[in-house]
Parts: sequence; structure tokens; C-alpha cells
Amino acid sequence: MTTPTQAFLELRDAALSCTACRLSETRNNVVFGVGDPGADLMLVGEAPGKNEDLQGEPFVGAAGQLLDSLLAGIGAKREEVYIANVLKCRPPANRDPRDDEIDSCKGYLREQIRMINPDVVVTLGNFATKLLLPTDMGITRMRGQRFDWWLGATLIPTFHPAAALRGRPKVKEQMVEDFALVAQALEEKVSTPEESDPVQSTLGLS
Ligand code: URA
Repeated sequence: MTTPTQAFLELRDAALSCTACRLSETRNNVVFGVGDPGADLMLVGEAPGKNEDLQGEPFVGAAGQLLDSLLAGIGAKREEVYIANVLKCRPPANRDPRDDEIDSCKGYLREQIRMINPDVVVTLGNFATKLLLPTDMGITRMRGQRFDWWLGATLIPTFHPAAALRGRPKVKEQMVEDFALVAQALEEKVSTPEESDPVQSTLGLS
């Protein structure tokens, strides 16, 4: 586990006391993120749910168990990667994130990504994918592809684990395929470190 930098700890502290949007009034805990701040792989979900809000950690409910098993399938553990969400606070009754909430919160995610500087970023579901890539296309069309992205990272969209839990076994099969692509991208980054300039134009965060 990499020791977090002072800047990373300050970012976390800022998020923990954030009151930039209405979600600060109803949250129990800010869910900043969890894992290794020096990780090669970063996963970005949508927003904390009930259990995450109570425990202050992302993906601790049923969706988190599926995520852990997908990570185990590529030989990775939760503590070796970094997991964050688009929103750091739970929307009441798990409603969808609103545009102004995403706007208020996205700077935290941008700084997390910049400081962690992962080789591979996986977006879980529509909200993370549409924030981090300039696309209006749904996750069913976007998933399972590799995009050359900001800071030389590779971005791979896949379904949100909750979609796999809602039924359709095919979704889970496709997530397993997408995680195999993630493993391949990580492997390639180890053997051929990035030489070209980072592609910045696709970052939908600023
Ligand atoms: N769903 C998410 O998108 N994030 C979590 O942390 C939990 C459920």
C-alpha cells in the first residue's frame, strides 16, 4: 500500500467537510474512496448507496461483493486497487445523481485520478462513463472497449455491478469479459510503458 501524499490527505479532508451541494444535508458519511492511492487500476462507480453511506466506504453492499469477485477473477484485491464514485455522498433513496450534484463533486474525482495516476480506469455504468468520456452513448454500446485517455491511462467502460445483480446473467458474463480486457491492458502497461503525450481532450471533468 502506497502512503498517501499530503495533497491526497488534504483532498480527502476537504471532501469530508464538503457542503457544496444538497447531499451534504442528508448524508451520514462522505464516501471519498478506498484502496491504494498508488494503484495501477482505478474503478469509478456512481454514488454511495445505503450501506456505503452508513459505513463511509464504497461498494460494501451486494454490488461490492460482485465487484470483489470480478477483481478476484483477474487476481486483484480491493486493497490493491482504488475505488471511488462520481458522487461522494448518497442521493436520498438512491435516486439518480443530478447534474448540479455531479458538477459540484467532479473536481474531487478529477484530483483523485490526477494524484493516483492509474494505468487503467474502469467506469462502472452510465454515470461514470458519461462523465469521463465525451459520449451520449449508453453503456451497452460503450462497454468492453479500450479508450486512450487522460494522463496516458486506458479507460474501459463496463456495466454497473448492480445491473448484473438485477437479473440478466449475460450482463455478468459480459462484465467478466470486460475485466479480462482490463487485465490485458494492465499487463500491456507493464511491458510497454506509455511513451506518447497524454490525451487530455477526452476528459469531461473540467
Ligand atoms: N453503487 C455505486 O455506484 N457505488 C457504491 O459505492 C455503491 C453502489
